[in-house]
Amino acid sequence: MKQYEFWFVVGSQFLYGPEVLETVEVRAREMAAELSRVLPYPLVYKVTAKTNKEITDVVKEANYRDECAGIITWCHTFSPSKMWINGLAALQKPWLHFATQYNKEIPNDEIDMDFMNLNQAAHGDREHGFIGARLRKPRKVVAGYWQDEKVHKRIADWMKAAVGVAVSKEMKVMRFGDNMREVAVTEGDKVEVQTKLGWQVNTWAVGDLVKEMNAVTDEEVDALYNEYLASYDLNTDNTAAIRYQAKEEIAMKKMLDREGCHAFTNTFQDLYGMEQLPGLASQHLMAQGYGYGGEGDWKVSAMTAILKAMGEGGNGSSGFMEDYTYHLVEGQEYSLGAHMLEVCPSLAADKPRIETHHLGIGMNEKDPARLVFEGKAGRGIVVSLIDMGGRLRLIVQDIEAVKPIMPMPNLPVARVMWRALPDLTTGVECWITAGGAHHTVLSYDVTAEQMRDWARMMDIEFVHIGADTTPEKLEEELLVKDLVWKLK
Ligand code: MN
Repeated sequence: MKQYEFWFVVGSQFLYGPEVLETVEVRAREMAAELSRVLPYPLVYKVTAKTNKEITDVVKEANYRDECAGIITWCHTFSPSKMWINGLAALQKPWLHFATQYNKEIPNDEIDMDFMNLNQAAHGDREHGFIGARLRKPRKVVAGYWQDEKVHKRIADWMKAAVGVAVSKEMKVMRFGDNMREVAVTEGDKVEVQTKLGWQVNTWAVGDLVKEMNAVTDEEVDALYNEYLASYDLNTDNTAAIRYQAKEEIAMKKMLDREGCHAFTNTFQDLYGMEQLPGLASQHLMAQGYGYGGEGDWKVSAMTAILKAMGEGGNGSSGFMEDYTYHLVEGQEYSLGAHMLEVCPSLAADKPRIETHHLGIGMNEKDPARLVFEGKAGRGIVVSLIDMGGRLRLIVQDIEAVKPIMPMPNLPVARVMWRALPDLTTGVECWITAGGAHHTVLSYDVTAEQMRDWARMMDIEFVHIGADTTPEKLEEELLVKDLVWKLK
């Protein structure tokens, strides 16, 4: 993964004299250094801005530097906002307005007008907030004391969302074959996603992948086979199927890396020249951070790669998922999610098992090897990006995953069981009303707030279904958003 950093830009002015400006800079450097220790990405102090030119210059530089994933601004003193207009108007990177102050307490004895002039974030942040609102710039506002852990968590979460923006802008998706025939929700406007999200979505021939597979050596297969055995439990004696998956993975990875693609799709309807649909191969690629979408679903594939990059350590616990079937017993209402093979092992509660089973769907000549496991229990989200025609809608639903309540010994695929919020049936009604797809990204370590941040930075519609959502409120919200997004 690329090394990202964030820039700390502090607002002030000449009015208070050089001593105050020196103090502001010393404190800003101290804060950036301290925050860099506790945040997932470095916060680099850049400037105590006093002029239009200083602000415009740092923004130009931030726009240009690939490693800069966003800027964090703060006003230690009052910073007149007309000098921010040119810079902020030109800003193309994510922006967080940090409403904090250096001192935690108002010092009863010490406080005088000098102290007030130096420590007036409450004053400066309002002027700074006005210009953000006036310019209609997408921004995150985080308020709180800069040494507070809760504040650190919120900035950390936003940083990861901003890294999701950087990853999105460079996203290239490799499609092997087209979308599954006749399916609507996996379609979409590739020009629109490139314009809005930066994604380059293009196709490569399955025949070229087969050629690449034929060029894979036995030594390469041996090495990856051993890696599989080191990572997973073996629950099949069909070594040939596992080795075939290794060959598929090696060939796909070579093509992906050669083209700079970080996500891919395939479809069971187009496996010409291949014996097995890639199962274990796709799962192990996802474990390495690549996005995947089944049935040619390039939107979910790119989103999988982006959520993974937003997760823990830049490759978190997120994966391609599909809603399959419900358990509707009163008091035990759950969704069962899986896919025909390709569930990411980062979702697993325990060490996955390699198994081979017959797969009736598609043109598999041989039984594909795949990883089988149960998903983790815990809070999470499911995410769906849909094309509404003229705009993109991102739908995020909060979920509570559980250890599957039954072993399902004859189910030959990895499975995750969860309850959608606010409850299963209301959650399903809301999801369907919003048009959410059957394919999602399921994540245990990315939150709805982070996806809201991401959608704001990407300037796309965001719909959140959570504990407080009712079908009635949601319907009204969708009606209003439909009008707003037609006007935008
Ligand atoms: Mn599917």
